[in-house]
Amino acid sequence: MIITLKKNAPQEEVDRLYENFEEKGLQVNIIQGANFNVFGLVGDTSQISDRDILANEWVENVQRVSAPYKLANRMFHPEDTIVNVGGVKVGGNEKIVIIGGPCSIESKEQIVRIGKEVKDCGADMIRGGAYKPRTSPYSFQGLGYQGLLDMADAREETGLPIVSEVMSADKVDEFVENVDLVQIGARNMQNFDLLKAVGHINKPVLLKRGMSATIEDWIMSAEYIMANGNPNVIMCERGIRTFEKYTRNTMDLAVIPIIKEKTHLPIIIDPSHATGDWKLIEPMSLAAIAAGADGLIIEVHDQPECAWSDGAQSLKPEKFKQLIEKARVVAKAVGRDL
Ligand code: PEP
Ligand code: MN
Repeated sequence: MIITLKKNAPQEEVDRLYENFEEKGLQVNIIQGANFNVFGLVGDTSQISDRDILANEWVENVQRVSAPYKLANRMFHPEDTIVNVGGVKVGGNEKIVIIGGPCSIESKEQIVRIGKEVKDCGADMIRGGAYKPRTSPYSFQGLGYQGLLDMADAREETGLPIVSEVMSADKVDEFVENVDLVQIGARNMQNFDLLKAVGHINKPVLLKRGMSATIEDWIMSAEYIMANGNPNVIMCERGIRTFEKYTRNTMDLAVIPIIKEKTHLPIIIDPSHATGDWKLIEPMSLAAIAAGADGLIIEVHDQPECAWSDGAQSLKPEKFKQLIEKARVVAKAVGRDL
């Protein structure tokens, strides 16, 4: 961190700041310039807030030279993290993973049936929501705990790992017992108590990007989970809010190489929520794989017009199967298996 002090800063202020940083365990290097004095701080500056330092009237400018995240940072962990989800490996140069299933679990019969269908199409995992974050309180809110139990039956019947979204810290135990991958939804990306709670579990976490989150906000949320003891985080881009209304969200493809450059974590893409339109799922999926994504999570329903949520952005199984076949060709072109 580089702190520029005004030249006329009183010596006692300079000494006070110097001691303050030293007390925090940092090494302080001073450069005396013609117009400014500069402090170069060496050490772990992650606990220091640049904005708070600027509150000192003698400080002209503060610049971070390293990112505020450490555990997620590729600089300190150059090799790719490979996350094991119930035996399915995600990240590194592993096979690209495909996750499919309905937005909401509607009944045991429905999740078992669609689970078998997505397996037959070539999926590696099954998705399904039991607790649903709905914009309207009058919309279907999910089957709750019973939904998780129903989905566990789909795992029994197919042998595929299952992923579902947890919405509150007090429900985390239900997920630890019943699912293989615990999803944090876009709306909860900065629910810090929930992030801490899933930091304490021994199940991998799928961390969706908040709809208005910057890349740094999102990585800091991964850092929360990792700093609380859980290194098994998979990032998931699901589209962000922009001025464009034609699609439900704007899918940010560039985050794939950026997350891979800045962090060592796997990243998968959710083209269903990113676009809101089943017709856009296939082209966006192919683009995501070409850009280096480690997987896709796609809403699949055999009767999308009757789905209890998100039917418009759900693929029918046959379309899902076609997508996987095309995606395999793109994966091969970029040196990955699928
Ligand atoms: C979902 O996956 O069903 C979901 C609600 O996603 P998001 O949090 O990305 O909106
Ligand atoms: Mn959905």
